[in-house]
Amino acid sequence: MNGMAGVLRRGEMRDVMEKYVRPEKNPGTACSGCGLRLAHRKVLEAIDELGLGLGDVVWGTGIGCSGRQTFVTWKGDTFAGTHGRVYAMATGLRLALPPEKRLILTVGDGDAFTIGFLHLLNCARRNVDMTVVVFDNLGYQSTGGQYGVTTPLGSRTDSSPYGAWEPNWTQGGFDVLRILKEAGATFLARHTVLQGHEPVESLKRAIRNRGLSLVQLIYPCVTHYGAQALGTRDLAKIYDWFRDRTVESIDADSSDSFTTGIFHDAVGSRPEFAASMREFVASVQKEGNHG
Ligand code: SF4
Repeated sequence: MNGMAGVLRRGEMRDVMEKYVRPEKNPGTACSGCGLRLAHRKVLEAIDELGLGLGDVVWGTGIGCSGRQTFVTWKGDTFAGTHGRVYAMATGLRLALPPEKRLILTVGDGDAFTIGFLHLLNCARRNVDMTVVVFDNLGYQSTGGQYGVTTPLGSRTDSSPYGAWEPNWTQGGFDVLRILKEAGATFLARHTVLQGHEPVESLKRAIRNRGLSLVQLIYPCVTHYGAQALGTRDLAKIYDWFRDRTVESIDADSSDSFTTGIFHDAVGSRPEFAASMREFVASVQKEGNHG
């Protein structure tokens, strides 16, 4: 994919935030020390390393800290969905846009894995060509720090003062990525934002996939998860806790760790939704049996 007219040249020694993010939105809305900026940057680095320009990507956002950090930040075309609905909007856009246009959605764990999960599962079933990047802050942090479906068991939060005890999507034998795999997604990976370049490599593979890709990027929330669950706002201690918990194996025991790596790579194994629909419509029109 080539950059379009007016796009900055590849290799230009400018910061990716400066290159791709609207100046008034840089550095964004995340709290000081939050890992969300790192997560945002990883997506931009992947775009940059793929040689994509502003005209090559349409960027959608969900709700929460991730939506707020990335909302209308991309200098190119952007759109925003209400909570959990951005996947349905992106499906419509996928049908309307040229196939080469990359659709990237930055959403939170609540947006993707709870309220929007049914939409997401159906995007996986259809293998709709889009890249969903889940910025996972381990709960509902934008509303003050309540537990969610990726909150580690035992975490003290505003809504679990004695420790989160409900089954979640990533421990106790569950893995939300396995559910998405069974639903038909063709590329799935999980990383923490503290893993250097590895997440960028997965994001590049995800964006290149002509089908439903999802990358879960776990990052430290210092204001709520740090203060409530870890009992500290000390950045070094919070980041160390995340580092110590990160395991570079996707199949490892997840009872007390973030298992990371590529979970599922089935790129090219299934037809893509919009392409299939175009082919189907063309065949119906050719046969003349459309009415
Ligand atoms: S509330 Fe937490 S996750 Fe949200 S921006 Fe602040 S530190 Fe980051």
